[in-house]
Amino acid sequence: MVSIDTPVAETATVKLRITEIFASVQGESTRVGLPTVFVRLTGCPLRCSWCDTAYAFTGGESRTLDAVLQDIASHGLKHVCVTGGEPLSQKASLALMSALCDAGYSVSLETSGALDISAVDARVARIVDLKAPGSGELERNLPANIPLLRAQDEVKMVLADEADYDWAKAQILEHDLAARCTVLLSPVAGDLDPAQLAEWIVRDRLPVRFQLQLHKVLWNDARGR
Ligand code: SF4
Repeated sequence: MVSIDTPVAETATVKLRITEIFASVQGESTRVGLPTVFVRLTGCPLRCSWCDTAYAFTGGESRTLDAVLQDIASHGLKHVCVTGGEPLSQKASLALMSALCDAGYSVSLETSGALDISAVDARVARIVDLKAPGSGELERNLPANIPLLRAQDEVKMVLADEADYDWAKAQILEHDLAARCTVLLSPVAGDLDPAQLAEWIVRDRLPVRFQLQLHKVLWNDARGR
């Protein structure tokens, strides 16, 4: 079964709008460094001030679920990351993730935290953003997602300055986030000194994982890497 509302027979007709599919190493999350196939879906309802994938807001190519699955299989990798844009802005992303799990892939989802994650296949590791004030999208955080977080999920906060860091600390405390799942803190490249963020985390003994975006270190954020 692909999903409750998308029988196998429909995988030839279900369509997704895709910006790119490519193999690289995972640049973020606890899966960092793992060879991974990335499926970047087109479209996002947010406009984070520091967004590094604005090229995925529009355009893309309409492809059948079958064609997308074949493309992913051609890369010969076990890990698949469904990303965007905001993948959940396309309903068919749910069928894609279920089909990938059925096929035996280890699947992660990178989502903005602004859309409901409850319908995502339970086998998927959900990497859920909490948008800090510096993103300009604070009001888009969906509080109903927080109680849904499980140990296999991760919360990611990208921080532009000390005010964002203080906000992140308050969120961790208020929602007891570290008891729910791994919490990832990253600096906005070019805005917040990574060493400064690391020092704040150690100073405050925050129960989080500091991370840099590995793909930026390796390839300076080149598209498709
Ligand atoms: S949610 Fe992600 S893709 Fe959308 S604007 Fe923010 S950073 Fe960019």
